[in-house]
Amino acid sequence: MVQKKKVALVTGASRGIGQAIAKELAMDESLTVIGTATTEDGASSISHYFAKWGLDGDGIKMDVSDPSSVEEGVKQVTSAYGPPLILVNNAGITRDGLLLRMKEADWNDVIDTNLGSIYRVSKAVLKGMMKERWGRIVNVSSVVGQMGNAGQVNYCASKAGIEGLSRSLAKEISGRGITVNCVAPGFIDTSMTSELTDDVKESMLSTIPMKRLGEPSEIASVVGFLASKQASYVTGETIHVNGGMFMG
Ligand code: NAP
Repeated sequence: MVQKKKVALVTGASRGIGQAIAKELAMDESLTVIGTATTEDGASSISHYFAKWGLDGDGIKMDVSDPSSVEEGVKQVTSAYGPPLILVNNAGITRDGLLLRMKEADWNDVIDTNLGSIYRVSKAVLKGMMKERWGRIVNVSSVVGQMGNAGQVNYCASKAGIEGLSRSLAKEISGRGITVNCVAPGFIDTSMTSELTDDVKESMLSTIPMKRLGEPSEIASVVGFLASKQASYVTGETIHVNGGMFMG
C-alpha cells in the first residue's frame, strides 16, 4: 500500500534559514512541504525553487502577524494537501534600537510577528495533529533569547517568549504524540545578518569559538532531526546551534 505523504508547513520560507529548512524537509520523500512568504511573488519564488530542485513542495502567501491570513492559509493547505503534521515556525523580523528610543510600533511588530505568530499558527494546525495523534512543532528562537543583546529588547523578549511558550505547549500536548521544541541559532549568514555593519560583524565573530557565521543548512539539519520520527522522545527542548558562542 502506498503511504500518504505528510504535510510540513514552514513559515518564512522565501529565503535564508526558512528556505534551507524547506529544502531539508522536502528531501524526505515522505513529505510535501509548503513554504510561506508575505507576498504572492515570494510564494511563487518558493514554488519555483521546489520545481528547480525537483522536490515536492509549494509556496503560499501568509502573513503570520495577521490572524485571518493564518486561518485562510492553513485552510488552503489543508484542503489542497491535507492537514500539516509538521509545523516549523521560522518567520521572524528585527526592529532594533535602544529601549529609550524604541517606538511602540517596533516593540509590537516584533512581538506580534515573532511570538504572536507561534500562538496563532500552532493553534491553527493543532486540531489536525491531535486527530492524527502525531505532530512535530519546531520553533526557531535565537541565541540572544537566553544571552540578551543591547539594542534588541523587543527581539530578545520575543525569542525568550518562544522558548517559554514551547515548554508550556509541550506539557499540554506531548501526551497526544505531538512534540514541541526550539532550535536557537547563533549568527547565521542570511539577509538578517547581512544588514549589520562590518564592525558589528567583527565583534560578533570574536565571540564565536568556531570563528565563522553559521550556514542556514546547519540550522536546517537540526530542525530536520526534531521534525523526524527519530526525535520521538525529545520535547520541550531547545537545541543551540551557534558555533560554541553560547553553551546552554
Ligand atoms: P530573513 O532572511 O530575514 O527571512 C525572514 C523570513 O521571514 C522571510 O521568509 C520573510 O518573508 C518571513 N517573514 C517576515 N515577516 C513575516 C510575516 N509577517 N509573515 C510571514 N512571514 C514573514 O531571516 P533569517 O535570518 O532566515 O531568519 C529566520 C528565523 O531565524 C527568524 O525567526 C530569525 O529571528 C531567526 N534567527 C536568525 C538568525 C540569523 O543570524 N540570521 C539568528 C537567530 C535566529 P518575506 O520574504 O515575504 O518577507
